[in-house]
Amino acid sequence: MYPAGCVGQAIGPPALYHPRMTTRRPDQDLHLASLVIHGGQEPDPATGAVMSPISLASTYAQTSPGEHAGYAYARGHNPTRYALERCVAALERSTLTQEQDITNGGFAFASGLAATAVILELLDTGDHLVAMDDLYGGTYRLMTNVRERSQGIRVTYVDMTDVQNVIDAITDRTRLIWVETPTNPLLKLADLKAIGDLGKQRNILTVCDNTFATPMLQRPLEYGFDLVMHSATKYLGGHSDLIAGVLVTKRGDLAERLRFLQNAVGSILGPFDSYLTLRGIKTLAVRMRQHCASAQRIAQWLEAHEKVQHVGYPGLATHPQHELARRQMRLDGPPAGGGMIALSLKGGLDEARRFLQHVRVFTLAESLGGVESLIEHPAIMTHASVPPKIRQELGISDALIRVSVGIEDTDDLIADLDRALAAI
Ligand SMILES: *Cc1c(COP(=O)(O)O)cnc(C)c1O
Repeated sequence: MYPAGCVGQAIGPPALYHPRMTTRRPDQDLHLASLVIHGGQEPDPATGAVMSPISLASTYAQTSPGEHAGYAYARGHNPTRYALERCVAALERSTLTQEQDITNGGFAFASGLAATAVILELLDTGDHLVAMDDLYGGTYRLMTNVRERSQGIRVTYVDMTDVQNVIDAITDRTRLIWVETPTNPLLKLADLKAIGDLGKQRNILTVCDNTFATPMLQRPLEYGFDLVMHSATKYLGGHSDLIAGVLVTKRGDLAERLRFLQNAVGSILGPFDSYLTLRGIKTLAVRMRQHCASAQRIAQWLEAHEKVQHVGYPGLATHPQHELARRQMRLDGPPAGGGMIALSLKGGLDEARRFLQHVRVFTLAESLGGVESLIEHPAIMTHASVPPKIRQELGISDALIRVSVGIEDTDDLIADLDRALAAI
């Protein structure tokens, strides 16, 4: 895959990166609601600063050629980025530690798609991957419109709500299975345990895009997945004020290759955005509780509304995979459906347009996972890059609306939807 000796070259473990203060418990002992605040973070050893300083230097002084404190050049090493990477790795319950000669199991990139692009760099020309058919439009675009041409990989999209479809799509060139669950925009689920086991049996890398659920609801590594990918732009950042991506693994060999690729490709997350993401994550636990509670109430309310044809929400008993959702998506123990809702209106494009023009508390915008509620039209907005024929086959109709429930007062959100539905 790489020339011998190439992996990890010039990117040795920085000695200073993990100054353990004796008072703190190891990350493994803490609950997620504590890890969002403390995971991978220690008071700054130089000053005791409680928040990770934003470290802007692009290069670091050496005492003699090749002798330094572990930091050489900021594409490879940055303390603020490391703090974020350690934090997300702790949240996804990656058990990699400093002893294994790598930063840890986390890697931060300039965007979710930059993180995805680096996963694809693990593949060679001619390799085949199987992906969920209903997935983030940009992931589809990168795989099919860019990398099939430029890298010569082949992608087969299947409905992973039935694991047999994944099994049937595997060929002797299949090297990677790409899962998104719940899916964007239809909120279908894939069974993480079944696919994690399948990957292990067949020796195929398994990746889960965990953007929608966040580690607060599900941690794919615990089901045997090799890699987790996040668009940290969404729930991790949580405030719609940054673009970022993160990868996590608990396999030492993969971490080594990703560390090499992160530096070799260079699409790293900058220090300021690393800091903002880290700051956003501190409230992830309380935000997710509110997102889930509010979305559950709103989904139930929508389901009973006469102008609504269908509501897709994993927390509803009418969701075809509700039992799987109850097993797989859990918030501090009890099942929780997340903050995203897909709804179809009775009617078509005209009805959808009028509805979307009349919301006032919800903002008509792409993206999701922020404190503010967003609403959008997948066919025209986020999923325009998926060809119309495929959109139709998947069920991304002109009457489909995707809702990202924010953390405003739930009554205000319901009143807003009620007003907009009345305007249709
Ligand atoms: C937004 C998103 C991405 C892409 O992330 P960017 O940060 O926008 O590059 C990937 N997957 C999902 C599920 C997303 O919602």
